[in-house]
Amino acid sequence: MRYISTRGQAPELTFEETMLTGLARDGGLYVPAELPRLSHAEIAALAGLSYEEAAFRIMRPFVGDSFTDAEFGDCIARAYAGFGHAARAPLKQLQDNHFLLELFHGPTLAFKDFAMQLIGQLFQTALSRSGERVTIVGATSGDTGSAAMEAFRGLDNVDVFILYPHGRVSDVQRRQMTTVSEANAHALAITGSFDDAQARLKDMFNDFTFRDEVRLAGVNSINFARVLAQVVYYFTSAVALGAPHRPVSFTVPTGNFGDIFAGYLAKRMGLPIEKLVVATNQNDILHRALSTGDYVTHGVSPSISPSMDIQVSSNFERALFDAYGRDGAAVAQLMDELKQGGGFHISQGALESLRADFASGRASEEETSAMIARALPQMGELLCPHSAVGVHVAQGFLGSTPMVTLATAHPAKFPDAVEVATGIRPALPPRMADLHERPERMTRVENDLHEIETLIRKEIAA
Ligand SMILES: *Cc1c(COP(=O)(O)O)cnc(C)c1O
Repeated sequence: MRYISTRGQAPELTFEETMLTGLARDGGLYVPAELPRLSHAEIAALAGLSYEEAAFRIMRPFVGDSFTDAEFGDCIARAYAGFGHAARAPLKQLQDNHFLLELFHGPTLAFKDFAMQLIGQLFQTALSRSGERVTIVGATSGDTGSAAMEAFRGLDNVDVFILYPHGRVSDVQRRQMTTVSEANAHALAITGSFDDAQARLKDMFNDFTFRDEVRLAGVNSINFARVLAQVVYYFTSAVALGAPHRPVSFTVPTGNFGDIFAGYLAKRMGLPIEKLVVATNQNDILHRALSTGDYVTHGVSPSISPSMDIQVSSNFERALFDAYGRDGAAVAQLMDELKQGGGFHISQGALESLRADFASGRASEEETSAMIARALPQMGELLCPHSAVGVHVAQGFLGSTPMVTLATAHPAKFPDAVEVATGIRPALPPRMADLHERPERMTRVENDLHEIETLIRKEIAA
């Protein structure tokens, strides 16, 4: 299996190279040159398998020669062993023909664990084979960073540094990063916003001397291996509701378009998905783009669903690549317009192609809060604000096809918003009930590239 860049100018890579590289050197994102397809019979045969067994069958064709069957199977087994639910991604019924896919039973209580836990194991296997060491750097508004620190803590050939905006992540999110005690894991609290953290991260990748010296690797959702791991639960949940014999729809709380793009891949691989509904909060660039054809950035307004507060949705580039008939030059041109002028217009043909797969909706802050309040008495469910955005938007798309809304985080990860809406402060699951007693460790850094690079050099030499 070969991987190509959405901008057409970077070398083709294997799965392992794609995973270790992250961003393509032409600025694009890697995608498989061709998608494997599962037959009707192969999808039907997933029924009744364990999550791990299904994951192996669905992802195996993407991995090619990068891992043996035994290595890949072991990585999957270790990745999900620490989850707090035997089904890994259980389904719960909310309403007639409306189901919630609970993706928050991993170690940091958000769906990011599904991908991050797996790539932690894949990195470890690949690096111990080659004897190489890499430095993973990530920027986070909360969930990605905690999932990455948890996944890479204590691994032999990896140092992990996570930049988060000082004072701007929730208490639980911060503690999930700062209470990691292993020496190879570092939480860096940067003065500034998430955008500042992200900008310094990009600067590090563009500083080729530094990038090559410390062997920088990225685990943001532009890393294709992360998207791949998320394809699995679309299959397992759809099969539980009757696929491939009947179609299923999904509503996905979306920020960077990574999770919903995984659903799109599942559809292309043969899973009968009728609709993929993009659910945004008030930062609704994707909903506006799909409604009007104009992808135009506004400023970010902080919301109660902070993991979806984005200005530029990186993974949308992968969907555009297909919508433009895999024309890398056309995508590069759009991304240039975005960089120069803050937006671009999607051509009529590409827009029609996108609308054939994706519908969209948005939830305002009031609607999100009202949905959290209403879900408890009416559906028996305490929703996190991100999941509530999804459940709200899904209301407009219910019908005879089963709808699955993705619950992307546990309510206890965002207790303030849940308490305001319901009067109930959700408790952490017992396995992490002592989070607030564990000692914290972090380093404060200024919003300064040189200072951050110096710190990283010093720590990895230690
Ligand atoms: C990351 C995140 C999202 C958005 O996922 P994307 O893949 O970026 O679209 C939604 N909800 C929660 C809780 C998240 O952590």
